Amino acid sequence: MTIAIHGLPVARGIAIGRAVRVLSSRVDVAHYFIKQEEVAAEIDRVRAARDAVAEELRRLHGSVAQMAPKDAPHELGAMIEVHQMMLQDEVLSEGVKHWITERLYNAEWALTTQLEVVARQFDEMEDEYLRERKADLEQVVERLLRQMKGTAAVLAPPPPKRRARGEDDAEGEDGFDAPLVLVAHDLSPADMLQFKKSVFAGFVTDVGGKTSHTAIVARSMDIPAVVGARVASQIVRQDDWVIIDGDAGVVIVDPSPIILAEYGFKQRQGELERERLWRLRHKSAVTLDGQRVDLLANIELPEDTEGAVKAGAVGVGLFRSEFLFMGRESRSLTRLPDEDEQYAAYVRAVEGMRGMPVTIRTIDIGADKPLDGKAARPEYLNPALGLRAIRWSLAEPAMFLTQVRAILRAAAHGEVHLLIPMLGHAGQIRQTLALIDQARADLDARGAAHGGVKLGAMIEVPAAALTVDLFLRHFDFLSIGTNDLIQYTLAIDRADEAVAHLYDPCHPAVLRLVADTIAACRAAGKGVSVCGEMAGDVSFTRLLLGLGLRSFSMHPSQILAVKQEVLRADTTRLGPWAQQVIASDDPAAMLAEG
Ligand code: PEP
Ligand code: MG
Repeated sequence: MTIAIHGLPVARGIAIGRAVRVLSSRVDVAHYFIKQEEVAAEIDRVRAARDAVAEELRRLHGSVAQMAPKDAPHELGAMIEVHQMMLQDEVLSEGVKHWITERLYNAEWALTTQLEVVARQFDEMEDEYLRERKADLEQVVERLLRQMKGTAAVLAPPPPKRRARGEDDAEGEDGFDAPLVLVAHDLSPADMLQFKKSVFAGFVTDVGGKTSHTAIVARSMDIPAVVGARVASQIVRQDDWVIIDGDAGVVIVDPSPIILAEYGFKQRQGELERERLWRLRHKSAVTLDGQRVDLLANIELPEDTEGAVKAGAVGVGLFRSEFLFMGRESRSLTRLPDEDEQYAAYVRAVEGMRGMPVTIRTIDIGADKPLDGKAARPEYLNPALGLRAIRWSLAEPAMFLTQVRAILRAAAHGEVHLLIPMLGHAGQIRQTLALIDQARADLDARGAAHGGVKLGAMIEVPAAALTVDLFLRHFDFLSIGTNDLIQYTLAIDRADEAVAHLYDPCHPAVLRLVADTIAACRAAGKGVSVCGEMAGDVSFTRLLLGLGLRSFSMHPSQILAVKQEVLRADTTRLGPWAQQVIASDDPAAMLAEG
């Protein structure tokens, strides 16, 4: 039966493929594809874990048997026996083998996938006692996962290339050759980054807002994605055919042939549109009235510069350096990349841009970007308002100094701008600048080569936007982070789909803060850019041009569509119109009218 699930559109386009479910588990589970030649070793890992758990249960059973009846009720021994039986059950072990051999899932992923298959069988049982054994199975799998922790491979190699549906070769019996779409309850930005190296054709998650960092990484992958689809991961089953409509924010499960044909047509239309835009990549972004506009790239990893250059970016406007720090399996600061490792990464980015400027933002960790890929730490009541971005860096000055030294050293290889996230106070500005001076002095004392950098601040909190003069006295340029500016101006958690309908880039308060910041920078003769998602959204290009913005930073995949808008724009007309829009009670309506 065809089911449509509504969520939030995150990355444009249509994806049609078989569902690959990534399940949440109480134990953190890595999901990655292994290589064909690693299959036997992966099965051995499961076997070793099973033997270790069997031994653990045997010891447990032995100690229970020795306890006095009051300390160890009879049920406890019986329960351990059930667990021992389940551990040896062929349905579990054969299923796991199947997912590893046929799909090249890593062992943990195979185990949680098979758990789901068997759990469904339990759910369908008539006998209540048997139905309740599902919890036992979950506990057994959890024991196995805990055993396997620490024995997993670190990297996610790309899975084997799959053919698109309908391509020449007949599709394998189990749909193995079809494109894959990923369906999960939630994915951390670090998980999402891991999948960046794989070949998923689309993404769906139950939770998340349009500008959550998971959504941002999905968008940077330039494949259709829907977040905030609430129940998707419960409804979609492993291998179901799924359509992801990233334009409308709709997920269609088990589509009928007519719906499939309709979306297949839309998909081809989208491809034609992309091909048409692709022709603009060597064209300069100049408006009809001759205004030059810089279209820059937002990147997460140095390797993203390749896509940025291909798309015609004239520099990197935002390198979210925190992605270098994520997913290192530890919160310990000693496990973070050291100065040389960071330096090498920044130099790769600088060299990747072939002489064009690279703006490196210092680490913005916290809120929905935890270091270790886990959900925000529960001890922080309100992580978005907590120790995040520059606040975190100032609380860890040694870490911050290491990063700044690495950036300054990379600046000896090309034009580097240093950008500080989430500043709000004069005191923070003073502290930050003092640490940057100290990093320079450290390098001088060591005799290490380093280069000059332009210093920039992000305008992400209303306090900064309202005291922009202060920022202009201390910095060479400002970059408006609209994602956070909207979140903090409207008090709407950008990662929470429950309030996503209130997250409104067109709110007059937001637009006025953006407009005033641009105007103040222009009046002071300082550079200003927008690097939040608004910069890559074509529905805002004309407004931002009208407000005087000439520098936009966005995902490389958005550059050509924004360039098309720039080429059609006449800023002499857009200026007065933009002033009317920001003065209006209903800017969204005016923007829609054009
Ligand atoms: C922003 O807040 O707009 C921004 C660009 O930073 P991030 O999305 O990484 O918080
Ligand atoms: Mg931000």
